[in-house]
Amino acid sequence: MTGAFQRLSGWGRYPVQECRVFRPDRCADVCPPILAREGRTIVARGLGRSYGDAAINGGGDILDYSRMNRMLAFDAESGVLECEAGVSLAEILDVFVPRGFFPPVMPGTKFVTVGGAIANDIHGKNHHIEGSFSQFVVQFTLLTATGEIMNCSPEENGEVFWATVGGVGLTGVILSAKIRLKRIETAYCWVDYLRTKNIDETLAAFAESDRNYEYSVAWVDCMAKGPALGRSVLMRGNFAARAEAPAGRRDPLQPKPKHGKPVPFDFPGFALNSFSIGLFNQVFYALHPSRERQWVDFDTYFCPLDSVHHWNRMYGRRGFCQYQVTFPIEQACGLTRLMERVSQSGCASFLAVLKRLGPGGPGLLSYPSEGYTISFDLPMRSDVVPLLREFDQGVLEHGGRLYCAKDAVALPETFAAMYPRLDEFRAITELLDPQGVFSSSLARRLGIVRPKAGGMAHE
Ligand SMILES: Cc1cc2nc3c(=O)[nH]c(=O)nc-3n(C[C@H](O)[C@H](O)[C@H](O)COP(=O)(O)OP(=O)(O)OC[C@H]3O[C@@H](n4cnc5c(N)ncnc54)[C@H](O)[C@@H]3O)c2cc1C
Repeated sequence: MTGAFQRLSGWGRYPVQECRVFRPDRCADVCPPILAREGRTIVARGLGRSYGDAAINGGGDILDYSRMNRMLAFDAESGVLECEAGVSLAEILDVFVPRGFFPPVMPGTKFVTVGGAIANDIHGKNHHIEGSFSQFVVQFTLLTATGEIMNCSPEENGEVFWATVGGVGLTGVILSAKIRLKRIETAYCWVDYLRTKNIDETLAAFAESDRNYEYSVAWVDCMAKGPALGRSVLMRGNFAARAEAPAGRRDPLQPKPKHGKPVPFDFPGFALNSFSIGLFNQVFYALHPSRERQWVDFDTYFCPLDSVHHWNRMYGRRGFCQYQVTFPIEQACGLTRLMERVSQSGCASFLAVLKRLGPGGPGLLSYPSEGYTISFDLPMRSDVVPLLREFDQGVLEHGGRLYCAKDAVALPETFAAMYPRLDEFRAITELLDPQGVFSSSLARRLGIVRPKAGGMAHE
């Protein structure tokens, strides 16, 4: 199988780098690109929904796993689905929602693969109650740099399991996985909307009543200043029971299909300025008054942005950075300071997303840890990289950490300080991959894997 040279980026379209891409669609084509290296490194890629450079490999190779998307087995008793790692959550939803099952963790988009979900140990709006994706992974098979296929679960090859979870593709290629789906009676949630006046009210609402909701998220107006800093719309919900479905509705497990609209072209740079984005934030806030028990279909509640295909074009050709960090609960003042800096900076962002995370799991490089996580987008400009690095210092001072799935600019020393188990992770990858076959642009930028003397490195 031959690879094709292509300029590739993450969802933020920054950075863009040339990679050689292999796109296997059958098992026999997966091993050869890993074993025949010709001095180049390789990393797997799913649907490319990481924003920065986690799934690109400038000057190296990419194993695009998205066509390896067969469902292999399903046990309706336990809810365990076995599938190839290129299966997306969108495909799981299509097949399993009508049968009364739902992915255990849903990020803000359904266009992510199971392999990508494990490699970033993704979290959803239910992290405070149910934890991250890895909690629902029963087992996966991993193709390592030597061509060995390992079965990994918390019980079998547990060290490799917990290194691969959140390990951004650096332990090998996840070939297939068994994941536990959750049962649902309807495809709808009862959602309560709460509009808050500022960040203190927002955090108080999270602290007081989050445990009453399976899912919770706040959209924050990050252009608001002064006494309105951090004003938000909290959207918190629980799946509805079948008996609660309003009379006369269609089958509650078969919601009306949604047809998204595309953004047909890159927006020109001048369309995004603090005025237009500030206006958007204000309108959003004004249109969402507090109200209770709204009957909302899962697509609208979990993945509202998916209804606008290629919405990343709204940030223009230069792309954008998404910044996502977590602060421990007792360091929420760090979050407030960060929001002040964002609103002062004039680096406009559409709404920011704020969630409360529960305790972290055992994944060596898993992002989720107990606290408040915030994410926002900054259109790429020359001052964005120094600004984000300045934000990183503030996050570090408050004991926080950044999320690899979003990052494109952090420095290695920042990452090492935020992830104290990095050396344990390196020790495992050095045993699994002594030649340094697996690498990515993110791995080199953040120094996650050390370049091998006389071995493979790019840039
Ligand atoms: C609109 C939007 C909303 C989002 N919301 C959330 C959210 O709420 N919570 C959250 O946690 N994340 C969120 N994300 C990020 C997203 O969930 C992760 O980046 C996820 O990993 C993307 O999956 P992917 O299949 O596109 O993987 P890619 O982005 O292609 O790859 C991600 C990482 O996984 C590795 N990888 C992919 N496939 C394999 C494989 N088969 N074997 C080994 N490694 C592999 C890659 O090397 C890379 O390091 C969001 C992204 C978008 C665009």
